[in-house]
Amino acid sequence: MSSEAGTTQEPRDEEAPVRLRNPHVAEMKSDILYHLALGSGSHDLQAMFGDVKFVCMGGTPRRMKQFAHFIMGEIGFELPTGTQLLDISQLSYRYSMYKVGPVISVSHGMGIPSVGILLHEMIKLMYHAKAKNPTFFRLGTCGGIGIEGGNLVITESAVDGMMRPFLEQPVLGELQQREGILDKELADELKTLSKPDDPWSTHVGRTMCTTDFYEGQGRLDGAFCDYTERDKLDFLENIHKQGILNMEMESLMFAALCHHAGIRAGVICVTLLDRLKGDQVSADKKTLNEWQEYPQRLVARYIRRRMKEASPSLTQSVHHPLSPGESGVIRSISQLNLTRQTSEQVNSCE
Ligand code: URA
Repeated sequence: MSSEAGTTQEPRDEEAPVRLRNPHVAEMKSDILYHLALGSGSHDLQAMFGDVKFVCMGGTPRRMKQFAHFIMGEIGFELPTGTQLLDISQLSYRYSMYKVGPVISVSHGMGIPSVGILLHEMIKLMYHAKAKNPTFFRLGTCGGIGIEGGNLVITESAVDGMMRPFLEQPVLGELQQREGILDKELADELKTLSKPDDPWSTHVGRTMCTTDFYEGQGRLDGAFCDYTERDKLDFLENIHKQGILNMEMESLMFAALCHHAGIRAGVICVTLLDRLKGDQVSADKKTLNEWQEYPQRLVARYIRRRMKEASPSLTQSVHHPLSPGESGVIRSISQLNLTRQTSEQVNSCE
């Protein structure tokens, strides 16, 4: 199996549907997206998601529900009277997903495996929906390196805990490598959307993505620690010199899969602390909640700009956020039951 490092990205066609680099899916009669509780045989995914232009991901269901409500106000999306935002994937008991006009807000859980599984299904969802060139965002938290808590880092590219610029994963007993590249133009544009009176500073740089929060990020406060504080600081200072501005646990998988799929993608994280000064996140709850809104506020400016360009009066998307139970989006009741049963089985036995 050959390495894919070095693959170049083709020029983007804004109207192009998401291309799937897996010939098997096109041959499947029905594709169940187990962890989203959706399926191509059970749901009319094009009617439900064909208008999606922005897929925003973040760690927890609560944060992404809050983002869904926030973006609703930001883009002036009004729910029809008597309706409310629904967690479209609630029957999966895994991820939570909301749709507000052209924006999806979905939780990705913690770490590389969790965001990877979600990405496989979100990319397939966009493919089945025939969504046109959607942009994916990860809105997260991180430890800053030389940056105080409460500031933003936009990832230019991601590396693993060994400073390698690719995601390495065993596939069929061989190591597959995929580059952790993000859209440079998008990162630069996001930075320009910061304003001088924002309560945060915005930085663009490289991100180290680790597979662990404690030893993997050189913390001294895990259950184990076989190194000294000097070793830790030498490591952090060394990677900082090589342009690493922050550490988190999802960007490399996010960058690698989006790049491989030809999807424009950006990662914006708020720092919770400066790791050169400590390990424990000590800001109070109110402050942390406020900080976690900063990536959302920046991405909302981007979404508003793109929507304004597409429709100067910021007119709302014609599609309302349909619930999976609503008539018109269900293709087959028997397939729906199958999707629900399979989704429940898969997610209750893992
Ligand atoms: N997330 C991380 O992965 N590390 C931190 O230090 C803070 C948030």
